[in-house]
Amino acid sequence: YFITVEGGEGAGKTSVLDRVESALKEKGYSVLRTREPGGIRISEKIRTVILDVNHTEMDRRTEALLYAAARRQHLVEKVIPALNEGYIVLCDRFVDSSLVYQGYARGIGFEEVKAINEFAIEGYMPDLTLYFDVDPKVGLTRIQADNNREINRLDQEKMQFHKRVHEGYKMVLDQFGHRMKRIDANQTFDDVYKDALQQIDLFLQS
Ligand code: C5P
Ligand code: MG
Repeated sequence: YFITVEGGEGAGKTSVLDRVESALKEKGYSVLRTREPGGIRISEKIRTVILDVNHTEMDRRTEALLYAAARRQHLVEKVIPALNEGYIVLCDRFVDSSLVYQGYARGIGFEEVKAINEFAIEGYMPDLTLYFDVDPKVGLTRIQADNNREINRLDQEKMQFHKRVHEGYKMVLDQFGHRMKRIDANQTFDDVYKDALQQIDLFLQS
């Protein structure tokens, strides 16, 4: 099964996924943990290109195309082979991130971003998506408190952008709710973890 995790900055996706990964492995599942943009050599290089430049320098459509390119290579080289071998693939971000960040927050539009991503993913969509819904203020506070975090240009951005991201996720959730489960990520780490694992357990039993 292909399971993705989505949400704004400071939602706790990465830390919670660490624990979910261990829990599923303890239950005996074969789990492949990965992330976007990145996860394999070529896509990590593309990630560096995207995150190391100032976004005023990079055209937003160029950025959207690079995300889609990184996504495709990662999907074809890593995700699909693992799914074919029976792995549960746990992926930190996927196409919903592009709809929200490039499509909505950067203003390209959902339809345009959806179109280039359809070219990139050829119908491969997650079986389950956990959406970590965090209040933008709570998320930003968590990021600022965490000095070890990978620092990139987007972490520096204003509250306004984070609010747009939050709005964008709400719209994506309204449109694709059947595949997405909302998790209240304002809760403590332990509670977010419990909710995430419970949703995955329910899905695996269904
Ligand atoms: O998931 P992670 O926080 O590592 O993502 C790295 C950065 O890339 C984030 O700051 C996020 O805002 C940004 N991003 C983006 N568009 C995507 C995926 C991630 O702007 N499609
Ligand atoms: Mg993260």
